[in-house]
Amino acid sequence: MRAPIAQALEKIDIGMVGIPYDGALTNRPGARHGPREVRNQSSLMRSINHATRINPYQLCRIADVGDIPFESAFDIEKAHDEIFNFIGEMVKAGIIPLSCGGDHSVSLPILRAVAKQPLAFIHIDAHTDTWDSFQGSKFNHGAPFRRAHEEGLIDATKTVQIGIRGAQNVSEGWDYSKNAGMRVVFVEELQKRGVDEIVEETRSIVGDAPVYLSFDIDSLDPAFAPGTGTPEIAGLTTPEAMALIRGFRKLSYVGADMVEVSPPFDTGGLTSMTGATVMYELLCVLAEAVSAG
Ligand code: MN
Ligand code: MN
Repeated sequence: MRAPIAQALEKIDIGMVGIPYDGALTNRPGARHGPREVRNQSSLMRSINHATRINPYQLCRIADVGDIPFESAFDIEKAHDEIFNFIGEMVKAGIIPLSCGGDHSVSLPILRAVAKQPLAFIHIDAHTDTWDSFQGSKFNHGAPFRRAHEEGLIDATKTVQIGIRGAQNVSEGWDYSKNAGMRVVFVEELQKRGVDEIVEETRSIVGDAPVYLSFDIDSLDPAFAPGTGTPEIAGLTTPEAMALIRGFRKLSYVGADMVEVSPPFDTGGLTSMTGATVMYELLCVLAEAVSAG
């Protein structure tokens, strides 16, 4: 975003942070390269939002705090601890994190760092990510929000999952979300009812509770975002994604992320550019929330 590189965690309201970790993927790899390429494409972003007229850089202090360094990337739980520690330092410094993954497992340690109470949670994704163990780990990228619910980091009754689709071999992830009390909006429902109705319902569920927003790039149709690990066709369009994010203005944000961009599967930087634009839109929403106090 051409934001200043932070040398220290001070005088920053929103810190953009790269999390180049993809050790918890179940399918196509490469999301560890996401932050580098999203940062590259983000140099195309500008300041004033044409739709909302928000200029996040005028509303608060925004910096790029760099990428989280890893020393234990082969051990998912230790890598998650490293993410938790880094984001925890940001939170301690009063910084709201806007993170760029990485695979979706990174959202779990972020939530551990930002949740002072069970949070409201807006989750835009093709997948509920409430599945259980896979290949010997319950911290794989299909499981973070099941763990977050078990750990009391998110309030299932204030959780909305939007854009869900794609065949599975078992239904237990979908079932877990439903049985826990999460609102699961399969993509066909969104396409039938339209974004505005889903936004309205989501806002009524979230209310004024502290909220975290997580955006998996595979929520988008692969026509818009082919560079990702677990693509599912018939997904959200980019106009729908923009309308969703702009519909979630003026909530009580504690943070947000955009994850699962995999540059090796991308074509012409399209997915990274789209991911950078999603991050810019999230930045506008977060900045407005910060400036409102
Ligand atoms: Mn996901
Ligand atoms: Mn997904």
